[in-house]
Amino acid sequence: MSTRSARAAGPTADVRTTCPYCGVGCGVVARHEPSGAVRITGDPAHPANHGRLCSKGMALGETLGLAGRLLYPQVGGRRAAWDEALQTVADGFRRTIAAHGARSVALYVSGQWLTEDYYVANKLMKGFIGSANIDTNSRLCMASSVAGHRRAFGADVVPGCYEDLELARLVVCAGSNAAWCHPVLFQRIRAAKEADPARRMVVIDPRRTATSEGADLHLPLRPGTDGWLFNGLLAYLHARGCGDRAFVERCTTGADAALEAAQASAGSIALVAERCGLAPAAVEAFYRWFAETPETVTLYSQGVHQSSSGSDKVNAIVNCHLLTGRIGRPGMGPFSLTGQPNAMGGREVGGLANQLAAHLALEDPGHRALVQRFWNAPAVADAPGLKAVELFEAIHRGEVRAVWIMATNPVVSLPDADRVREALRRCPLVVVSDCYRDTDTADLAQILLPALAWGEKEGTVTNSERRISRQRAFLQPPAEARADWWQLTQVARRLGFAAAFPYESACDVFREHAALSAYENQGRRAFDLSGLCALSPAAYQALEPVQWPVHADDAAGTVRLYGDGRFTTPDGRARLVPVAPRLPVHAPDAAYPLVLNTGRLRDQWHTMTRTGRVATLCRHTPVPYADLHPDDARALRLADGQWVRLESRWGHVVTQVRVGDRVARGSVFVPMHWTAQFSSAGRVGSLVNPVTDPVSGQPESKHTPVRAVPLEPAWQAMLCSRTVLGLPPDVAWIRVREQGYWRTLLAGFGPVEDWHATARRWLGAVELPAATGTGQDWIAYHDPKAGRFRVALLSGHRLLAALSVGAALEVGAEGWWDAAFAARQLSPRQRARLLSLGASGNGAGVVDPLICACHRVARSAIVDAVRRSGRAEPGEIGRLTGAGTACGSCLPEIRTLTAQAG
Ligand code: SF4
Repeated sequence: MSTRSARAAGPTADVRTTCPYCGVGCGVVARHEPSGAVRITGDPAHPANHGRLCSKGMALGETLGLAGRLLYPQVGGRRAAWDEALQTVADGFRRTIAAHGARSVALYVSGQWLTEDYYVANKLMKGFIGSANIDTNSRLCMASSVAGHRRAFGADVVPGCYEDLELARLVVCAGSNAAWCHPVLFQRIRAAKEADPARRMVVIDPRRTATSEGADLHLPLRPGTDGWLFNGLLAYLHARGCGDRAFVERCTTGADAALEAAQASAGSIALVAERCGLAPAAVEAFYRWFAETPETVTLYSQGVHQSSSGSDKVNAIVNCHLLTGRIGRPGMGPFSLTGQPNAMGGREVGGLANQLAAHLALEDPGHRALVQRFWNAPAVADAPGLKAVELFEAIHRGEVRAVWIMATNPVVSLPDADRVREALRRCPLVVVSDCYRDTDTADLAQILLPALAWGEKEGTVTNSERRISRQRAFLQPPAEARADWWQLTQVARRLGFAAAFPYESACDVFREHAALSAYENQGRRAFDLSGLCALSPAAYQALEPVQWPVHADDAAGTVRLYGDGRFTTPDGRARLVPVAPRLPVHAPDAAYPLVLNTGRLRDQWHTMTRTGRVATLCRHTPVPYADLHPDDARALRLADGQWVRLESRWGHVVTQVRVGDRVARGSVFVPMHWTAQFSSAGRVGSLVNPVTDPVSGQPESKHTPVRAVPLEPAWQAMLCSRTVLGLPPDVAWIRVREQGYWRTLLAGFGPVEDWHATARRWLGAVELPAATGTGQDWIAYHDPKAGRFRVALLSGHRLLAALSVGAALEVGAEGWWDAAFAARQLSPRQRARLLSLGASGNGAGVVDPLICACHRVARSAIVDAVRRSGRAEPGEIGRLTGAGTACGSCLPEIRTLTAQAG
């Protein structure tokens, strides 16, 4: 994908870097072209993706613009010099600590960060401020795996690698919609299966997803019952003699207790099936396939982690691999997929409130003393800090009085998000470092610090298979934006710790991080970068992707761990952990009868700060729908596309309904991405209960009781405008980024007396594009009897905005508005059709979603091609439309559409 960049000056050679989105960690090549464009392609030499990218990666070039960027420090809403801003942060932290102690301040950081940023933050907080109040948004996505790994292996280690997913004869995908959330890795699994269809895939997920569509077996289990399913598997494996007795006796402890717990909870296949809401034959097939397939990988992700018993679920999975000895060898093992690009790197440096740096244990006095010696620190924190949900609760209570939030948007992403917003409103000092100014969290900051964005920063990330890759800069930093490690270093110096924070480059930080991992290690700790301690700046710049541990005598890294049966516990044995499964804390009841599940979409990333600016990505799913089963929709008198208010005991969202069998009866699914920048009430975090896993602190984001209240708008409208327009608080709205304009869908619940005056108020603020003159031309049509009102606002012959109001939503002909807003001069025909939405009789009420973002092929075009070709085969659809012939992220959806037609 090639996109013009206003900052295309800089290095002219290709720059190899890493995608900043998901935990697959794909290699990317950025090329400055003579035209000034930056061309983004997959890196054929990167072992994670071998040149492939998904739709989000392909569109990275479109995120490089400066619109919405935070470019200068701000203090109290006014521009400030860096020196003043940094001094104000340091003074605020110093004053707060002096008055209320070290635990009254906190850092809340991000799996989007580079390892170098994380290292400096953790050192400052745990070693020099002396509190462990640093936590990360990675707490929301993989803390349960960290806890499960540490209990089972003695260290937070993912034993296997991506190649294992291609070597496996059976891939069990538990609570992971990898087709959308880790698309390139999923394509590797699919390609292996297509090369050898005898390989099997089992998907365990309450929802029907793009991942489950291609599975040999889909187990749509009742939400929260995974523990029973895997305990049942453990008991089944034992009963059938499938355990590896020699491995269990030589390499593990705890097998008897784990088996006893499994047998007590799971009983029989019939009981497991009943508890999980599955057909006994399906459970039996899964167990049998697992039993008879030594090369089995169990891939798991947020559906397992985001639970009040997430750590136990992880251990229930790991137990099955330990009982059978299927771990650390080619094509087998438990495999936790990290959500974010550097969740793993954050774990390495102790970015979680209950960990020390370099995988050292905060609870271990010997480890604390080691870190104190290495850092020459005055005081290393001796108690765990506040985990994410606890942290914002402590802010709400006034116990934490200064917080520095970096590269994350907790007002959107945390559970009970309205309370988080309220907590930040109450907090005496809120500092936010971010690339973007227009985020829900930045809106609450007293001090804003401009950070570097992807393409501007230098450092490393670690992906889900422990592979450390370089992120390299290929753009000049804009205005006064600075690296996060630099910002932290400057504040640390101003707090009096200059000697311990001498860093002048990311390379300086990395070398120290690597040296700490090697310090007094001698093979005791798995996390060991001794082979990278002495990198020169040139060697750091040239660092090739490598999997840790990287020992001093073997710089090639380590593909797999634990294949020799030696684990990183004190006795060298892995531990099977007894699991007593628990249901989610809050059960549905008469007042809140539905279970809310939340998750990612294919083409959006987290809180849309980047992907929300890319029109092609927004068009895949333009509206934050609530998926409902047809029976529930019928009972609630809700129709497809209808506005609905979802309510829980913690908050509400307003969105549109999508009816279908993607979810089971009694369930509702809402995507996690929408923010106050894109919707009037679309932050799903407002609904989510703040219950957490007692071991990992990870929130139960997959299970909140809710109810659905149908909304009946008095009118609905579509507003298209070149710039974002403010809207009154009493209308519901959802904003979608389009090519060169914004499309906003609105619903109003009271009468509007004068639509002409209302339209002038709403549209009057639209900004004129350059060189269009200042005159404005209004064209309006009003049919009060039909309740229809349409208006277009022009400057000369250019379209500035258009509003269409009616009893039902009408969005117009597909692609017509794109052409109208792109035209420097509307043609007479375009102008004549402005008030008929492009073509008379064409007023479709939904935006046609883009299935193929690379070639901009809409769903309707694919459905049409399927009908015309009469062939249910994605290759033929690709030949006819181009869909699915570039990155391939849309292939699962094309297969679904062709299968439906077949
Ligand atoms: Fe980026 Fe997509 Fe690769 Fe994930 S799968 S790292 S989002 S290109």
